[in-house]
Amino acid sequence: MTSKTLVAVKDVWKKFIHEGNEVVILRGIDLVIEEGEMLAVVGPSGAGKSTLLHILGTLDLPTKGTIAFEGKDVTRYSASQLASFRNQRLGFVFQFHHLLPEFTAVENVMMPGLIRGQSQRALEKRAKELLDEVGLSHRIRHRPGELSGGEQQRVALARALIMEPKLILADEPTGNLDSKTSEAIHKLFIDLNQRRGTTFLIVTHSRDLADRMARTVTMRDGRIENDVRREPSDGPFRRADPSAPEAAREEEGEGVHERVQEDVPDSDQAEAKEPAERVG
Ligand code: ADP
Repeated sequence: MTSKTLVAVKDVWKKFIHEGNEVVILRGIDLVIEEGEMLAVVGPSGAGKSTLLHILGTLDLPTKGTIAFEGKDVTRYSASQLASFRNQRLGFVFQFHHLLPEFTAVENVMMPGLIRGQSQRALEKRAKELLDEVGLSHRIRHRPGELSGGEQQRVALARALIMEPKLILADEPTGNLDSKTSEAIHKLFIDLNQRRGTTFLIVTHSRDLADRMARTVTMRDGRIENDVRREPSDGPFRRADPSAPEAAREEEGEGVHERVQEDVPDSDQAEAKEPAERVG
């Protein structure tokens, strides 16, 4: 992993006026994301996770503070600069994928490039390759309504990747999928991060997903309560690798071996799709 800074969030505040009262949602967020990192943002509902993701995605402006992307403060961009920045640098994956129902899988994946006026032929080739990469080469001519939830989410992921973004922002990407399908999508995220070096920030309630990522940021009441990085060996696929016994790594005493599930408050545990550890 490189140590080049991709995003630097500095003293970000977000306030709303709700029924005449000021509501403070983010209270001075500082966060640096390095290129190639994969970080989970966890915390109870209402902590401000989605608000932070929207601000990072330039879909909303902070009340105060700066967001530097590759050193440039994107909070100062004009509307047209923002549109092209988002299109070229960011990929979004949401719980509800927002695929266009009247277009096929391959057309949906091509859409960000079509919006940029790129050559249809080159885009189609690339979109097909991406659909193949997410395991959907047999579904390219299907419309969203003819695909399962997991398949739709794969199409959304391929669409997020078509412009080769630096950063993928995902908000509860597997929130409405069953555990088996979620597992497949989680593997895909990690695989894409490892193969392409794409940086991922994923807001999730899934302990399974957070536990696989090398960094977990816990939010509470609009603040970052905890920011834990693990050693790479303790990150992606660590539990899937039987040749890396848990006890041996614990004895090494390197890095922070805090368990993700300990960071998530009890009230949220019921929302987790897949407990990280099963008893029995
Ligand atoms: P999380 O993603 O951690 O569940 P959110 O970022 O969605 O939290 O929301 C944080 C808080 O901000 C919630 O209490 C929500 O009701 C409030 N909030 C979000 N958007 C607005 C808004 N436009 N006006 C007022 N309050 C809002």
